[in-house]
Amino acid sequence: MTTTAPSTDSTSTALPEITHWIDGQRVAGTSGRTSPVFDPALGVATKNVALASQDEIDRAIASAKRAFPAWRDMSITKRQQIMFRFRELVNERKDELAQILTAEHGKVVSDSLGEIQRGLEVLELATGFPHLIKGEFSQQVSTGVDVYSTKSPLGVVGIISPFNFPVMVPMWFFPIAIAVGNTVVLKPSEKDPSSSIFLAELFQEAGLPDGVFTVLQGDKLAVDGLLNSPDVASISFVGSTPIAKYIYETAAKNGKRVQALGGAKNHMLVLPDADLELVADSAINAGFGSAGERCMAISVLVAVGDVADKVVPMIKERMAKLVVGDGRRSCDMGPLVTRQHRDKVASYVDIALEDGAEVVVDGREVAVDGEKDGFWFGPTLIDRVPLTSRVYTEEIFGPVLSVVRVDTYEEGVELINSGAFGNGTAIFTNDGGAARRFQNEIEVGMIGINVPIPVPVAYYSFGGFKDSIFGDSKAYGLQGFHFFTREKAITSRWSDPSHGGINLGFPQA
Ligand code: NAD
Repeated sequence: MTTTAPSTDSTSTALPEITHWIDGQRVAGTSGRTSPVFDPALGVATKNVALASQDEIDRAIASAKRAFPAWRDMSITKRQQIMFRFRELVNERKDELAQILTAEHGKVVSDSLGEIQRGLEVLELATGFPHLIKGEFSQQVSTGVDVYSTKSPLGVVGIISPFNFPVMVPMWFFPIAIAVGNTVVLKPSEKDPSSSIFLAELFQEAGLPDGVFTVLQGDKLAVDGLLNSPDVASISFVGSTPIAKYIYETAAKNGKRVQALGGAKNHMLVLPDADLELVADSAINAGFGSAGERCMAISVLVAVGDVADKVVPMIKERMAKLVVGDGRRSCDMGPLVTRQHRDKVASYVDIALEDGAEVVVDGREVAVDGEKDGFWFGPTLIDRVPLTSRVYTEEIFGPVLSVVRVDTYEEGVELINSGAFGNGTAIFTNDGGAARRFQNEIEVGMIGINVPIPVPVAYYSFGGFKDSIFGDSKAYGLQGFHFFTREKAITSRWSDPSHGGINLGFPQA
């Protein structure tokens, strides 16, 4: 990737441009519209990303459409070999990719590597696609008649991804989509778009034909272009809830298959018998990892009985040891993605104080191992958060851990179930019966038992309930294969002279 001296001028045309990837090459933007891409630890724009015009959107989709028939018809063996080579290249180049990711997102390099690893796991699952797209066969359903099914690709599929996992989230979808024979147009987040171009180049090196994987940089115009194009068969979206809802409704109205994963507000319920050392460690990891910019971050600790009095000081003590700084140094937590987002997250401290909550650790006061202009906001702990406070009701998407106190397990479950989101949750207890009851009673899609961030492995599927997902298909796992294929049922008879003649009814034998 190109790097030059950073600039503080966000509109500077002197900055390198992050291009589209169309027809197997980098394509410079022609719309005249760009968006600055920041290095969050430095607090300056280092690149501009092209924002697609309608012409560029049409060109990207047309390229993917042209590439589809030949890719669909390429033998399974050849497609599988390309997927294997791509897997090897991503694995070999992951350190470089992690640096690119951290330079635009801000997360610490070890966390970028972790994200790439989770993406690789879906890619590894996708290499086994031949087994997962086999059809069924029934012989002699009627005399001389067989029925069988095949799983065919959809055509051109659109993927729209969020800023917080610029490698992993696209890789939840495109390895499976491409392996089974679709062509993909990926619209990455405009906040950290370089990783997608890096992956496109690796895919080409692996032997992927031009047009099978396209990267279309852009904003709402590009998203709407995908949503409204009759040549795009499906949309896979991950992002905030209001946009997910819009994507779901628009894509469905346009007759497309759609999966739209939205926001989250994840609770961890801590029973009095839990291992509180494990609870304190888990709250730190799940609350502040990736600066809380994870849809599976824990943002509310629901403490039953006297748990809060014991565990809040333990968490506070651990927070004092966290090193916040430039993710390329030896730190635990990096900056937030943009200054605007940093300021929004920081504003919740004032809201907490106004609403009468107790700010135990204030992230605005953090000491940092990094440049002074970085988008810094430290780990924040807020106790006794009123349930009416926006600190509790809204997705903050930053390193802010709230503590809410309840008297009983039942009260905790009712609280979690009454929330708008249902992405992830966790229970911490040493009582197997309580944990079993929790998994049955809780209305959340991904559940951890003494595990704070229960992201399912690649061969299960990822997705929540309620406002955390729109559409009935989760990401990756078997549901991913199901989403990116459609079934044909074929009834076949090869001529047998003894069964000729006219028959207007259903066959009886
Ligand atoms: P976002 O909704 O702002 O953006 C997501 C994508 O939508 C981006 O590609 C963006 O360019 C596009 N977009 C933004 N505004 C749009 C508009 N008005 N019309 C059409 N497209 C638009 O989300 P973000 O800030 O990039 O990511 C953070 C959000 O994503 C959080 O809410 C987080 O919980 C959620 N998220 C959810 C999951 C999940 O699996 N449920 C995973 C990761 C992130």
